[in-house]
Amino acid sequence: MSTALEMITAKAGESGWKCRAVPWARMEDLRAAIEGRFEAGLLDGKALRDYLSFIYEPGCDFEPRSIIVLAMEALPGHVVFEWKRRPVPVVIPPTYTGFVRRILTAVETLGGWLAPEGFRAKRPRLPMKTLAVCSGLARYGRNNICYVEGIGSFVQLAAAVSDMPCDSDPWVEPKALELCSSCSICRRSCPTGAIPEDRFLLRAEKCLTLHNEDSADFPEWIDPAWHNALIGCMKCQDTCPGNAGVAGKYEDLGAFTEAETGLLLEGTPLEKLPAGTLEKVERIDFAGDNYGLLRRNLAVLLEASRSLPG
Ligand code: SF4
Ligand code: SF4
Repeated sequence: MSTALEMITAKAGESGWKCRAVPWARMEDLRAAIEGRFEAGLLDGKALRDYLSFIYEPGCDFEPRSIIVLAMEALPGHVVFEWKRRPVPVVIPPTYTGFVRRILTAVETLGGWLAPEGFRAKRPRLPMKTLAVCSGLARYGRNNICYVEGIGSFVQLAAAVSDMPCDSDPWVEPKALELCSSCSICRRSCPTGAIPEDRFLLRAEKCLTLHNEDSADFPEWIDPAWHNALIGCMKCQDTCPGNAGVAGKYEDLGAFTEAETGLLLEGTPLEKLPAGTLEKVERIDFAGDNYGLLRRNLAVLLEASRSLPG
């Protein structure tokens, strides 16, 4: 008779997902891994406090026995902005769109698989990258990005705490991609020098992602021509051999007309956008607190596109 873990692993495979589970007793090791990432500057203080408070007070209405980690494909998005009478294609890296929707769907689906066995699943506040790497499901690249076999870094991670028993324990110390031992492609493609030669630890403060996710003005040392995505950065993922099987795959996220692009660049408040334009902004997941970033990041990308051949 198969266990509940074997059943959900098989069901995940049928959906094209990957699945691992670790015993809840591993939360002490997760705490140490989280603190290590905080000390390395890869996690901010608020995230650290959130994760630790969940570990100590998970607030489940059942006894937690396992943490289940799921991985599924999440492609980069392509969106086109008409500007100065020509289409400017713009990339949105994986998981900036559909992040919460995919996680909720994954946890709900998992809950549906577990319910007939009498077990429950609850979405936790835990660092999914760290969990995925420590469960053996993923590995870190030299660029501090998570890679899952067969999916590469175009991946959405989801996790659930459950009362499903977990007799196996795949916990491992965080590991790097084997490819990284003889590769420096991402270091050479990184425009900012965020990937050092002498250590396997990103210079997080130099990564474009940190700066274009933040509403503060860009530091002067960032050359505007380095920007390559509406938010985040694709340079080290696009060139990584760990993405050989998925490179070139994109999700079409639609197009903004010249008039709509103008409205965005003028900083038109969300509530004053025509309904159709607002829908497009919602589709690319910029219709929240991050709306201001859309105008700032789009302006710099469109300006850089003027120097490209038409
Ligand atoms: S480009 Fe090379 S070194 Fe960088 S993450 Fe990919 S495999 Fe590792
Ligand atoms: S995301 Fe961009 S800036 Fe950050 S390490 Fe990768 S290439 Fe460099």
